Amino acid sequence: MRKKIVAGNWKMNMDYNEGLSLFSEVVNMVKDEITGTQTAVICSPFIHLHSLAQLAKGYDKVAIGAQNAHQAESGAYTGEISAKMVKSTGAEFVILGHSERRQYFGETNELLAAKTDTALKNGLKPIFCIGETLDERETEVHFDVIKKQLVEGVFHLSAEQFAQVVLAYEPVWAIGTGKTATAAQAQEVHAFIRNEIANQYNQQVADDTTILYGGSCNPKNAQELFEQGDIDGGLIGGASLKSRDFLDIVKVFN
Ligand code: 13P
Repeated sequence: MRKKIVAGNWKMNMDYNEGLSLFSEVVNMVKDEITGTQTAVICSPFIHLHSLAQLAKGYDKVAIGAQNAHQAESGAYTGEISAKMVKSTGAEFVILGHSERRQYFGETNELLAAKTDTALKNGLKPIFCIGETLDERETEVHFDVIKKQLVEGVFHLSAEQFAQVVLAYEPVWAIGTGKTATAAQAQEVHAFIRNEIANQYNQQVADDTTILYGGSCNPKNAQELFEQGDIDGGLIGGASLKSRDFLDIVKVFN
């Protein structure tokens, strides 16, 4: 059975103290309010990771993730953070391939394949993001774009390695815009992704893969999105910065 996950992506928000206080609220609510088997993952800036991992100890429904990690194991890359460093903080996940990294930092599918390999080698579980731009949807090449992102980013992995990967479908036009994909649009793409996984590996691997939806997901629309057969949770941006909103989204699975 695949896991239900709601992950918060804080992006470049929250100074150190703000982050600790937001996370403490989240942990307290998770402890009191989450009855199901879902996992809440908080993907914070690097500066928070170790402290959050300490605070999360003993709560098996809360995990911590980074938002990026370098493809090299170590070396002369001033200002960068390696997967091994992330792992050493106690973080379990790392977001890779977010559209903001692809767009603003020129991250290509080829680079992301290398980052995925390094993350896995160091025991991190990638939350690998894919998704089309508005232009790509309007010109109806979105399925081709998504397939290429999968083929070039993660389909080189063995089935065993792929089992450590969580996918996140984030249509770029829905990120931070308040314009969410309809449940039917999201489900259509999620089913397509699962089918591609079945073709590449097998049906069992496809059935076991957690595929999250991201893009203007909030407490109001989460229920309808998460009810879809191939949507296994969400990757939440703006709404993860408010503990109540984030928890209300996690609780959809209760
Ligand atoms: P929003 O939820 O703010 O649209 O951001 C989604 C996202 O990019 C999560 O990674």
